[in-house]
Amino acid sequence: MTVHTAPASWRPSTVHVDLDAIGHNVRRIRDVVGPDASVCAVVKADAYGHGAVPVARAATDAGAAWLAVALVEEGVELRRAGLDGPVLLLTEPPAAAIDAMVAHDLTPLVYSPRVVALLDAYGRDADRAITVHLKADTGMGRVGATPEEWDSLLAGVGSASRVRVDGIATHLARADEPGASTTDEQLAVFDRLVERAHDAGICPTHVHAANSAGALLHTAARHTMVRAGIGIYGLSPSRDVDAADHGLRPALSLTTEVSHVKRVTAGTPVSYGHRWHAPHDGWLATLPVGYADGVPRALTNRAEVLFAGGRHPVAGTVTMDQVLVWCDQTEPSLGQTVTLIGADGGEQVRVEDWAEISDTITYEIVTQLTHRLPRVHTGGPR
Ligand SMILES: *Cc1c(COP(=O)(O)O)cnc(C)c1O
Repeated sequence: MTVHTAPASWRPSTVHVDLDAIGHNVRRIRDVVGPDASVCAVVKADAYGHGAVPVARAATDAGAAWLAVALVEEGVELRRAGLDGPVLLLTEPPAAAIDAMVAHDLTPLVYSPRVVALLDAYGRDADRAITVHLKADTGMGRVGATPEEWDSLLAGVGSASRVRVDGIATHLARADEPGASTTDEQLAVFDRLVERAHDAGICPTHVHAANSAGALLHTAARHTMVRAGIGIYGLSPSRDVDAADHGLRPALSLTTEVSHVKRVTAGTPVSYGHRWHAPHDGWLATLPVGYADGVPRALTNRAEVLFAGGRHPVAGTVTMDQVLVWCDQTEPSLGQTVTLIGADGGEQVRVEDWAEISDTITYEIVTQLTHRLPRVHTGGPR
């Protein structure tokens, strides 16, 4: 087992990322989508909290043809680390970032004639072509040229001599709801917009619409490429689409060590607001991890952690830096390893469990794990 990062940290609370799971998931998604579609590994937001550079290397090694980021800064980070494959920028760059975007060879999704004109002017000044993918809004309602705006966007790129279109993309709003008919509607609109581009003489290499759920569930969404984020981390896009059902393995776990132990008597009140009282005499353990690390305060009295071969409930309010755990008759020992997310002793706590308790999605749980928690990467390309 190769340990790639050994951050300077003395705290025992650690996010572990299994790069072999990332590789497995990329290969799994490649198998699902087949040879006609390539995989773009979405590593925005520091690879959903998993660490952008090691994840990007593992994904590339497992056959992801593209990487995608949300910010120019995130693309620059990949380039500085030596990743030299194609990188998609999922939104239009701020004007001030165009220089860095071009210098680092990031391919933006573009949807406004204003940005096409900016890029064209930049390309003429620099005497080079700027490659873009056009983004259509087929029903997500966020960014993209709407069907009404599509022809003027096409006309804009048609007259921009230094802007080269090499892709057309859209984004699905409800791909993670297996029954939602809007996905097929969006894909039908998308097909018409791709056709109109062809009619205008724009025949790009890449056509892409699917996020992870789209790639897993909707054959018609796969086109030439899928943009998979949550799936490469082995996490479920929604309650209705379970990652494990699709052969994906979670890459992330979170462990800590017991930092304080005490025996309490029945009725002892615990933590802010005294929202928990010992049901009888027993043991309490303190864990040095809290909401400032991204452990949701919503887990108060609701989540379970794993140690000593069993599941043990969180006792009382999750605080900024510490969490208490009711160990009942199991005496915890100082320094004992505790798993907050991950598997231990045949038991498992999933990111999905935290998302469910917190009434949110897996995406939010992992992107909220803060940088106070060191990341340790194991496995992966060597
Ligand atoms: C974040 C993002 C993705 C990845 O979505 P997942 O659901 O994580 O697979 C794909 N495309 C766009 C445009 C995105 O913003």
